[in-house]
Amino acid sequence: MTSSEHGALSFLSTQLGSIRASGGAHRLRVLESACEPVSRVDGREVINLASNNYLGLANHPKLREAAIEAIKRYGAGSGAVRTISGTMSLHVELEERIAAFKHVEASVVFQSGFTANAGTVSAILTADDHIISDELNHASIIDGCRLSRAKIHVFRHRDVVAAEEKLASLEGVPGHKLLITDGVFSMDGDIGPLPELVAVAERHGAIMMVDDAHASGVLGRCGRGTVDHFGLHGRVDIQVGTLSKAVGVLGGYVCGSRDLIEFLHLRARPFLFSTSHPPAVTAACLAAFDLMEKEPERVERLWKNTSRFREALRSAGLDTGASETPIVPVMVGEARKAHAFSQMLFESGVFATGIGYPTVPEGKARVRTIVTAAHTEEQLDRAAEILASCAKAMGIL
Ligand SMILES: *Cc1c(COP(=O)(O)O)cnc(C)c1O
Repeated sequence: MTSSEHGALSFLSTQLGSIRASGGAHRLRVLESACEPVSRVDGREVINLASNNYLGLANHPKLREAAIEAIKRYGAGSGAVRTISGTMSLHVELEERIAAFKHVEASVVFQSGFTANAGTVSAILTADDHIISDELNHASIIDGCRLSRAKIHVFRHRDVVAAEEKLASLEGVPGHKLLITDGVFSMDGDIGPLPELVAVAERHGAIMMVDDAHASGVLGRCGRGTVDHFGLHGRVDIQVGTLSKAVGVLGGYVCGSRDLIEFLHLRARPFLFSTSHPPAVTAACLAAFDLMEKEPERVERLWKNTSRFREALRSAGLDTGASETPIVPVMVGEARKAHAFSQMLFESGVFATGIGYPTVPEGKARVRTIVTAAHTEEQLDRAAEILASCAKAMGIL
């Protein structure tokens, strides 16, 4: 008998029981090496197709060196939130660097992409305002929308006409309107229709915001994101990016006008009330931007690897859904099957995550693979073979 079965939290144990019974509970896989194309996970060497380490920077010698140097010079922690005494020269340098990289007036770095989204949307809007949001937008956008108390209008995935109809129906209704989309959608690997959405926002005087978490370091010149990819400079009011995925470290940033950024300094709650990044994190991010600008071939290799791998899966007959980026799902259908497929892959030497409801709609469960620039062609070919043979064994193919 454990106290958890009888205490005030016993309702959680009950709920957990039904989650387990429905096959929705998963043990955490434990990474026992650095994040590399072949990683050690739960005691096994596996081809890692489960990270967001798109450019292979997470364990890059230059980032490691920069982190170590920063610790020696500035210590392990920043000591305070940004608005008290936690703004270090490194933080300012990184923000200036990001603003220049993105060709915007200013940028502000948050502790994560999650806090960047949630902190920004909730800071700029109030209950009098309206948010028009793609149904597959990231959880951090949804939480930011809820925190803002603005009215939330969800449109069908990538449905520009529906977004425009909603904005048209709000014509004359008081309040600010925010049109918001992911740049790249994390579960399907498809790209948001940003040029069309920008035009809609412009026609209706809405604020345009894009969350480029999976596009940072991936799309656009040297990985500048979807705005650069589509040539929309100056037409997107708010760009969010992450430092946790392709950049290889941790953090999120918001890019826009100087006034937007200064407003966020004063009103974004994660900026005001949560401690700033340790120097090692910031210095490693700066080193990553150096590499991204000096070695654009990394992004080229990412896309070359992506085409090779996706083509291998498709020619084997696997359904890769709507993927047009390094996020390549293998559609399975049932959640249980996706998790069993993922387990079989793992035992065969490939680490790829099974994803089911509620992360994706019921009946659309999948195993998600993510290719990086650091994978060799041999590793990708081998992974594709293993995927195909496990799919056959499971009756997916
Ligand atoms: C991962 C992700 C985030 C959160 O970024 P973190 O830096 O990991 O907090 C936000 N938006 C999208 C679309 C993401 O995929």
